[in-house]
Amino acid sequence: MAAIRRLACDAEIIPAVLGSRGEPLDVGRARRLVTVAIWAALVIRDRHCAFPGCDRPPLMCHAHHIRHWILGGETKLENLVLLCGHHHRVIHDSPWQVRLNPDDHKPEFRPPPKPGVENRWIRYRPDENET
Ligand SMILES: [Zn+2]
Repeated sequence: MAAIRRLACDAEIIPAVLGSRGEPLDVGRARRLVTVAIWAALVIRDRHCAFPGCDRPPLMCHAHHIRHWILGGETKLENLVLLCGHHHRVIHDSPWQVRLNPDDHKPEFRPPPKPGVENRWIRYRPDENET
């Protein structure tokens, strides 16, 4: 099932016609693949793979649907996170979880539970100095 979800997740960008007022950043359920405008906004927000400690560049990344497309997740910035191929597989195939922080809407991750260790949402961005 995880493999099917991953295959149904975004792995490519499609070209989009830009309207005179610019492309909306929320195409909802209309399309699964990410438009150029959404991809650009995602790269501006995440800059590289968002997984803690990873800095693989956008060219090596996929746009991952946080709420899976096949379960009703929408194609919009608020439901996407930039993940490299390796960490895309980690998110789909292991108990690691990803969400957008409810306050600043940046991605954060929760490791698989370990006995005796507090299971907190973490983010580690070496270049994250701004607030
Ligand atoms: Zn990565």
